[in-house]
Amino acid sequence: MTDTMRAYRLRDWQDPGFDEVAIPEPGYGEVRLRVAGVGLCHSDVLFLELPAGILPYEVPWTLGHEIAGRVDAVGPGVDDIEPDDAVAVSCMSTCGKCKWCQRGADNYCVNTGRGRGFGLDGGLSSHIVVARRHLLPIGDLDPVRAAPLTDAGATSYHAVRRVLPKLRPGSTAVVIGVGGLGGYAVQWLRMLSPARIVAVESREERLPVAMQLGAADAILAGEGLSRRLKEVVGDDGADAVLDFVGTDQTMNAAIRNAATMGSVGLVGQGFGTAPLKYGGIAFDCDVFIPQGYTIAELADVLRLARTGDVVIETELFDFDQTPAAYQRLTEGTLQGRAVVLPHA
Ligand code: NAD
Ligand code: ZN
Repeated sequence: MTDTMRAYRLRDWQDPGFDEVAIPEPGYGEVRLRVAGVGLCHSDVLFLELPAGILPYEVPWTLGHEIAGRVDAVGPGVDDIEPDDAVAVSCMSTCGKCKWCQRGADNYCVNTGRGRGFGLDGGLSSHIVVARRHLLPIGDLDPVRAAPLTDAGATSYHAVRRVLPKLRPGSTAVVIGVGGLGGYAVQWLRMLSPARIVAVESREERLPVAMQLGAADAILAGEGLSRRLKEVVGDDGADAVLDFVGTDQTMNAAIRNAATMGSVGLVGQGFGTAPLKYGGIAFDCDVFIPQGYTIAELADVLRLARTGDVVIETELFDFDQTPAAYQRLTEGTLQGRAVVLPHA
């Protein structure tokens, strides 16, 4: 093996591109993976576009935080995993010691401002070194298909889990933005709750897909969204609304269509705002902004995927096509998660 590899990096703010870097060696408790697939997430678009001084990271780093692959080499102290085992990477770099980790909320670990693919080297390279405790063996699940589950699948699962106690027979749950994350949110709701699911999408071609994934109704975003959503949801409102877009319009539609004692999750980083005022939201309805997922939630998602009941939508790209794949994601023309194959 040569001792350098090509990596797709944020070389400087607003300057992504390929660079030659050292192939990392696994240290104590670490494992080196041969990366099989890397899902591209809409939050990467922020990393690609934001100027210096906004995010608390230092450049350069290798992009790509949805990572799965096969064990290539193990460091000292790792004795329960073997070369060629298929594994998924939990991208957040949790410490295991802080008060959040000890509460089981490792997605809010004091370290998780940064993780693999955001501030630390991610998966867009032939190899990556990861602490053993951030790896989940996936058995016979194809690592190329598992990659998008490690954020799109797991972050949407975290949001859905939070609203499950609100959903009972007769409930309605709304999912706004049925792309990478939202497509899984629809499926988790179908698999785990009795709710009728209403999907909202701005791309017409995604409406039938939303129905195939489990929505009972799918409506086109755009003018009069809040009113049109009310016509479908009904005057009682939705017991859960998950917004994977986060513009002024979607946030307002979410808040105005949530039921008394319902729940609104604002997951999308569209930088919109919505006024909260007495009379503007149903009584006792909570609004939350979640971030990421716990490693336990990722383990659940991988188990659900191994049942074979989860539709994993992907569009595959060779490594050289990484910039083109990001372009497609930014334009909003993908019909599934873009998964880059670093060895193709
Ligand atoms: P995506 O591009 O795959 O999906 C977004 C979907 O929303 C697309 O299908 C798009 O057509 C649709 N859409 C766009 N504008 C819309 C509108 N006004 N109304 C309805 N639908 C609309 O993106 P993704 O990777 O699924 O990410 C979704 C959002 O979640 C992004 O803002 C991303 O930054 C954010 N995100 C948050 C976290 C977190 O932990 N909070 C983690 C990952 C991603
Ligand atoms: Zn911690």
